[in-house]
Amino acid sequence: MVVMLRALTSTIFPRVGAVSWRRYSAAAIPAPNTRPEVHFNKLFINNRWQDAESGKSFPTINPSTGEIICHVAEASEVDVDKAVKAARDAFRLGSPWRRMDASDRGLLLSRLADAIEKDAAYLAELETLDNGKPYAVSYTVDVPNVVKCLRYYAGWADKWEGKTIPIDGNYFCYTRHEPVGVCGQIIPWNFPLLMQAWKLGPALATGNTVVMKVAEQTPLTALYVAHLIQQVGFPEGVVNVLPGMGPTAGAAIARHMDVDKVAFTGSTEVGHLIQQASGGSNLKKVTLELGGKSPNIILSDANLEDAVEQSHFALFFNQGQCCCAGSRTFVHADIYQDFVQRSAERARARVVGNPFDLTTEQGPQVDEEQFQKILGYIKVGKSEGARLMCGGGVASDKGYFIQPTVFGDVQDNMTIAREEIFGPVMQILKFHTLEEVVERANDSKYGLAAAVFTKDLDKANYVSHALRAGTVWINCYDVFGAQAPFGGYKASGNGRELGEYGLDNYTEVKTVTMKVPQKNS
Ligand code: NAD
Ligand code: MG
Repeated sequence: MVVMLRALTSTIFPRVGAVSWRRYSAAAIPAPNTRPEVHFNKLFINNRWQDAESGKSFPTINPSTGEIICHVAEASEVDVDKAVKAARDAFRLGSPWRRMDASDRGLLLSRLADAIEKDAAYLAELETLDNGKPYAVSYTVDVPNVVKCLRYYAGWADKWEGKTIPIDGNYFCYTRHEPVGVCGQIIPWNFPLLMQAWKLGPALATGNTVVMKVAEQTPLTALYVAHLIQQVGFPEGVVNVLPGMGPTAGAAIARHMDVDKVAFTGSTEVGHLIQQASGGSNLKKVTLELGGKSPNIILSDANLEDAVEQSHFALFFNQGQCCCAGSRTFVHADIYQDFVQRSAERARARVVGNPFDLTTEQGPQVDEEQFQKILGYIKVGKSEGARLMCGGGVASDKGYFIQPTVFGDVQDNMTIAREEIFGPVMQILKFHTLEEVVERANDSKYGLAAAVFTKDLDKANYVSHALRAGTVWINCYDVFGAQAPFGGYKASGNGRELGEYGLDNYTEVKTVTMKVPQKNS
């Protein structure tokens, strides 16, 4: 999951080209407080802050230093049960939430967006502290897109209409769009605020109630948003937010008999477990947004400078921690050497360092585990014979910083060309013909995103239609809008988030058929 960085890159990182939406300049970014205070570190159930039943807590770490920021209450199965009960009560027929006019649900979402916007700087500081992403990005990309997402779904609340249907016979037949019920939502750490908004927006617009488990690496901003949810007036139990671990709290949600639906974003490995848990319990509805190994195809007629910059962004944005990262860069043989050289130069110039420094492009990886995993992939890349063009090592003596790394001469069967690395490691592969590259691009268990760079409209259309991926970008990358759906083919997931399509997964369609008398008796 990712976002529109153009707004930022065009001004702070001037190598990226012109943008079509609102620009931010470094001057417009307030100087950050690098030690934002943590106000909330408990479980949020029924609009109340609670310790875990077990009394347990866990540390959340600042990945720039490896130091503990604070301890956070750790939910386990009993806490999940409490939260599900709260969400079920909030969903019962006749409850304040169920009686609320759809337009008022929209108003609450809209007020939540306003409250987040008001605290944008604080939320961006907290996000950077807990996750490590550059503050300039948290402030100009993550938080504004959270606000836009919630406003977009606020608008849908009273516009999600059913149909009247001309069935045979003398009947009045219509559909109602009803909420699914209690929705479990399990989110990852790469875009903590944004993933929370992508999940809450459609669920609340359509009148569901929510039990959300936030990622153990980055619980802090979601808890602050929970506080705002209460402040703007959502009724008790409509949204419950639980920090906790995956195999305990997350798994308890996935197998819960009283959860009607689960939405998950994270690894493919856990995606399998979520779907199995549904099958082994109450067949709750499942939507999954999982990993990828997205092909980014550069044809020989592309604007080389722009393609190099966009491909750099496609892979390195957010420390490479994007499910849709362009992590297989296929480059036409005619421009291959030049492209690899330029990409290595660009990566060497990437500014890695303190994420609170406004000129920083790349902060630390989220935690020690990801850091080690990525270093492991770099080792495997070298041992399998890929050519290390730059980087390849640790970038700082503390924290989880990795040098921007570029591999040339990458072959399709190499581990680094097949598995999701989720870090600042670029793989550049060579191709000769369009048919060949389409076949190779599609030869993956994933199908989340893809891109093609060319000036030839026929080729752009051919490639974009032939690729098996949920999103295809042409001459751009990571362009997102709350209005446009996002999701995966194949093992990259089930269902779509964002846009009107994103409402489907939070809706039960009810058909109501009424007999119409033929004459007035
Ligand atoms: P993960 O899938 O373990 O974690 C994502 C979320 O799922 C977290 O909230 C976690 O607590 C929860 N979870 C973990 N195990 C669970 C279980 N058994 N039942 C229910 N919930 C569970 O991902 P990770 O370990 O943090 O990262 C591993 C890899 O996953 C990364 O290297 C990357 O390849 C991928 N990933 C993808 C995304 C994405 O946006 N699609 C996000 C994060 C990680
Ligand atoms: Mg953390």
